[in-house]
Amino acid sequence: MQNSNLLNLEIRNIHKRYDSQTALSNIDLVIRKGEFFSLLGPSGCGKSTLLRILAGLESADEGEIWWNGRRIDQLPARERPFNMVFQKYALFPHLSVFENIAFGLRLKGVATAEIRSRVDEVLTLMSLAGFSERMPETLSGGQQQRVALARALANRPECVLLDEPLAALDQKLREHMQTELRLLQRRLGLTFIFVTHDQEEAMLLSDRIAVMNAGRVEQVSTPRELYEAPQSVFCARFVGRRNEILGTVQRRDAGWVDLSFGDRVILRGRSVGATPGSGVDGKTETRFFVRPERLRILTANANPSEGWNTLVGEVVQVVFRGTYSEVVFAVTGGANESTLLRAFTDEGATTTVGDQVRVEFSPQETHVFSGVDE
Ligand code: ADP
Repeated sequence: MQNSNLLNLEIRNIHKRYDSQTALSNIDLVIRKGEFFSLLGPSGCGKSTLLRILAGLESADEGEIWWNGRRIDQLPARERPFNMVFQKYALFPHLSVFENIAFGLRLKGVATAEIRSRVDEVLTLMSLAGFSERMPETLSGGQQQRVALARALANRPECVLLDEPLAALDQKLREHMQTELRLLQRRLGLTFIFVTHDQEEAMLLSDRIAVMNAGRVEQVSTPRELYEAPQSVFCARFVGRRNEILGTVQRRDAGWVDLSFGDRVILRGRSVGATPGSGVDGKTETRFFVRPERLRILTANANPSEGWNTLVGEVVQVVFRGTYSEVVFAVTGGANESTLLRAFTDEGATTTVGDQVRVEFSPQETHVFSGVDE
């Protein structure tokens, strides 16, 4: 048994089917106390189903949920240590802000004086003091979502489950609420389990992220690890920008793959997981992945770095992005003439459309995944 002081929530081998369709399979996660943990993935991958199973609004076909060493998946929703916040604020339109927040506490039979003090406390916490008699329809989207959060917090949950709580807000308000949410979570030391399909939001907010795809967890890691060391093609494509270079496998050895690109160019990449490609060397195509900021544009007199991959190309677009420029170039000399690569660089000012460029990137930063060519 692991140390239960450090262990908050343990999800063991959860499976869920709807009719003939698998919504979740083999979900194993450990979420630590005080962690901001995100479930990230495209629409339909099972994030909300998992959250609803945790909340007790849905039951799993198989698997267990443990909370601080105690099994809770057979408990009814109201006896679980969670409160849930939904994308649509789900406020009662005919009740004031005060009554919306007090509603759950009244149901639980909390004493009137205690209700008043708890509602006042969460209103202050959410910067909503003075709003208690307002009706929901008179509030902005951001204020309504703050009321929904206040309502969840008034129950004093140890863990808050948030299902795309910011998705309905416009961009500016959303960014503001992201910051507020993170500060609040830290200040109160709560565990947050946060569902989102927005990789930037997950990267910004989370201590750790579980990337989900088609009912499975693909990777659990910190935002930085996820970006720098994706464990699958899916994660590499879903999080951040990347270049993909299609070529033919020439050789594989001890974690490295050599890829031919056109007649002469050989590129080297690191294989992630099992050695990718089961086909015959010299015949099997595969893709190398490299992040745009890892491409270094070589100036005319620069010496190439020893052992690095190099490609040449013609610049077709330069986009100024404030702190960096995005240089897009068409690779020349490859079998596939239409390969467009992107480099993020602070050398953008000296590069213009039509320039011939030489670009280098380290084999260490070049990844190839099993499954990409199958
Ligand atoms: P996400 O939250 O990642 O968008 P969901 O958890 O809502 O995904 O859905 C996962 C899969 O389960 C989807 O294919 C969805 O259509 C299906 N699903 C979800 N809820 C139900 C339901 N009540 N009945 C049947 N299928 C469902």
